[in-house]
Amino acid sequence: MDHFLYRDGMLHAEDVPVAEIAAAVGTPFYVYSTATLTRHFRLFDEGLGDMPHLVCYAMKANSNQAILRTLAKLGAGMDVVSGGEYRRARAAGVPGERIVFSGVGKTREEMRLALEGGIRQFNVESEPEMAALSDVAQSMGMVAPVTVRVNPDVDAKTHEKIATGKKENKFGIPISRAKEVYAHAAALPGVRVVGIDVHIGSQLTDLAPFREAYGLVADLVRVLRAEGHQIDRLDLGGGLGIPYERSNAAPPLPTEYCDVIRETVGDLGCEIEIEPGRLIAGNAGLLVSRVIFVKSGEGRDFLILDAAMNDLIRPAMYGAWHDIVPVVEPAAGAETHPFDVVGPVCESGDTFAKARALPPVSAGDLVAFRSAGAYGAVMASEYNTRPLIPEVLVHGDQFAVIRARPTFDEIINRDTIPEWL
Ligand SMILES: *Cc1c(COP(=O)(O)O)cnc(C)c1O
Repeated sequence: MDHFLYRDGMLHAEDVPVAEIAAAVGTPFYVYSTATLTRHFRLFDEGLGDMPHLVCYAMKANSNQAILRTLAKLGAGMDVVSGGEYRRARAAGVPGERIVFSGVGKTREEMRLALEGGIRQFNVESEPEMAALSDVAQSMGMVAPVTVRVNPDVDAKTHEKIATGKKENKFGIPISRAKEVYAHAAALPGVRVVGIDVHIGSQLTDLAPFREAYGLVADLVRVLRAEGHQIDRLDLGGGLGIPYERSNAAPPLPTEYCDVIRETVGDLGCEIEIEPGRLIAGNAGLLVSRVIFVKSGEGRDFLILDAAMNDLIRPAMYGAWHDIVPVVEPAAGAETHPFDVVGPVCESGDTFAKARALPPVSAGDLVAFRSAGAYGAVMASEYNTRPLIPEVLVHGDQFAVIRARPTFDEIINRDTIPEWL
């Protein structure tokens, strides 16, 4: 559910007409709904209910500080995957003790940064990383709290580029080697084991892989406790999918996902952490764009937009679907026509949709891509010297620009021409 609905024939973001934002900030732009972000966070927070827990928003999905602050004020922690994200979370006001640090390639500088600033735990993904972290912490006179990310070799049944829980993926240590790795960690002076971490992939639309992975984690808790390790915390990752295509069957709800957690690991007396990203931010955002031209080709018609693959790369990168809707509500029963929806970038890959059935649209009209709040703005680039587009946050009848469009001077002046030229 989201808060982008037609009202009086016009698409609104909460109580603000989308066209009003377009008039104020120009197109293209992203717009996010505070109410949707809040609702999604609460579904998880309340779904975990009486289990001791912390919902650590995976901020790589959308790391604008206004989004982070919105969630942090509701009690969210953060899952960060780089020193940059750590700094950004802290700048947004998130305390270190609510930040978990994931990722396969943490550098010693990043470890030091998080130890200095405060960290809830490092989710360690390999033995070399464990050794490096122990070294760094010891050199600072500290002991780093760690979980080990285990790879349960479970098929997440999602797009191959975002599946992370199979043995051929680069993530985590094989669950079959966990005993050995925990024994190794226990012998290191600069780390203290606090729990287990797992994350099997993104955009999962079936609960079965979660159930399987969490069941394996529950077995591992018993094995490790029998070996004398203290396992107090389970970080169960993120990955619950969202309905990108409204005509499809809806994926499981956060409450159903939380029930799987309760059923598989609820009786172990562990504190539960989860790291949802896409489900919190995805349906909380639209990408709004204007039609530049309608171009008739041979056997197909193109809708050429002012948004492009550099603004929203998911269709080009994953073949992803986004629902595209006109900002002015089409008349009931309006006939549709198939369009290839494309951007102005000089690549055929700059295609958002092929033969998409859309109601009548003309040059100058506004259209909105739904479910663009996660992995949209954060994956944008300035390819073709197209400025990063503004982000806007709506709250009831108010809206604010939370990242402004840079000027062309700002972009161009970032380059330096060497003296010898
Ligand atoms: C990407 C990622 C997440 C978030 O995944 P979503 O599908 O956005 O929920 C959580 N944890 C880790 C370690 C990740 O890499």
